[in-house]
Amino acid sequence: MTDCIFCKIIAGDIPSPKVYEDEQIFVFKDISPKASVHILVIPKIHIKSLDELASEHQTLISHMMLKLPELARSQGLENGFRTIINTGPGGGQEVDHLHIHILGGKNMPGFN
Ligand code: AMP
Ligand code: ZN
Repeated sequence: MTDCIFCKIIAGDIPSPKVYEDEQIFVFKDISPKASVHILVIPKIHIKSLDELASEHQTLISHMMLKLPELARSQGLENGFRTIINTGPGGGQEVDHLHIHILGGKNMPGFN
């Protein structure tokens, strides 16, 4: 989608520190980290949110979930990590391209 900031990051039109990329997903550092480690895992295809998921996305979503522990470990989070998915305005979603937050290390926000 042309006016989507995360699609622009995937396309390389907006520079962003890349952590990982494969044919299905793109992973990069959050520009405003809420913990010492804060990365975002996004699908390369534009899906607005969990609300727009369909059965055709099963393989993609499985791939995203299965990659999370490896991605967390790649950032030094050997002892565990937190994942967050905000959905819609009521869920605090600010960027309308599905993303999974991976957070960990010092100053981790939220549930304790
Ligand atoms: P959410 O509130 O779940 O939609 O989270 C959106 C996240 O995207 C926030 O944590 C922002 O800091 C992050 N963000 C917004 N713009 C950028 C950008 N250009 N590069 C990296 N992260 C971004
Ligand atoms: Zn997008």
